[in-house]
Amino acid sequence: MFLGGKRALITGSTSGIGLAVARAMAAEGADVILNGFGDEAEIASLCEEMNARHVAADLLTADGCEALMAEAGPVDILMNNAGMQHVSPVEDFPVDRWEAIIALNLTAAFHTTRLAVPHMKAQGWGRIINTASAHSKTASPFKSAYNASKHGIDGFTKTIALELAQTGVTANCISPGYVWTPLIEGQIPDTMKARNLSRDEVINDVLLAKQPTKKFVQPNEIGALAVFLCREEAGNVTGANWSIDGGWTAE
Ligand code: NAD
Repeated sequence: MFLGGKRALITGSTSGIGLAVARAMAAEGADVILNGFGDEAEIASLCEEMNARHVAADLLTADGCEALMAEAGPVDILMNNAGMQHVSPVEDFPVDRWEAIIALNLTAAFHTTRLAVPHMKAQGWGRIINTASAHSKTASPFKSAYNASKHGIDGFTKTIALELAQTGVTANCISPGYVWTPLIEGQIPDTMKARNLSRDEVINDVLLAKQPTKKFVQPNEIGALAVFLCREEAGNVTGANWSIDGGWTAE
């Protein structure tokens, strides 16, 4: 229970990867704050399960990010994880989708980080973990906004790692390949349309085609990596972009 007494805020943690990270941190004794949308009763039951608090702020705007940080209070661990996707050829890419993806996947992390850092610096300890993606290192067609946001979060993370290098605060990205979560399930119909493929073809020939292991990454594997980055032994791991992608970006 090495995270006892540490407050961990994980954005987008009512589902998928964020939820698995929240569970992994709660299992190590962290005082977890959940964020994200979903069914009220389900969220209440998650809070009970983890002895966690939930703040439902919408991170698409600076005001929403500020409300989250004010309600959360000072945090020792910040995981910027909330994210969204849209799949479309660039010439048809809806402008409002582009703006929302950049706002949530990239700009929200800037707002939460700028508000979290003063407390972390003052106490000489902090962990900032950003969920990037294999798409922070490489690209796939029809995901222009997503790939731009994820390459952006990689650059942002390296920058703050350097700024904070002598303060006891680390900043790293975790870059998953395909993880079976609602985000991936949700993009299958659009990919079927954009590429004129069946559901099975999208799963096997588009998604898993990228992963040499031919297996989806499991959310709990990301939880374990995030927990490791919070350990004292990870104090010199900063500015890194950790792949957990079944070998995808090794090719
Ligand atoms: P998910 O759809 O299961 O969960 C997304 C979470 O973000 C949910 O809790 C949702 O309520 C929350 N959210 C959505 N819009 C929000 C908003 N405006 N304000 C606050 N919260 C909001 O997705 P996931 O697959 O767990 O993805 C989490 C992160 O992992 C994202 O940044 C995603 O880009 C990244 N990622 C996912 C995969 C994958 O294969 N699933 C791969 C690489 C990276």
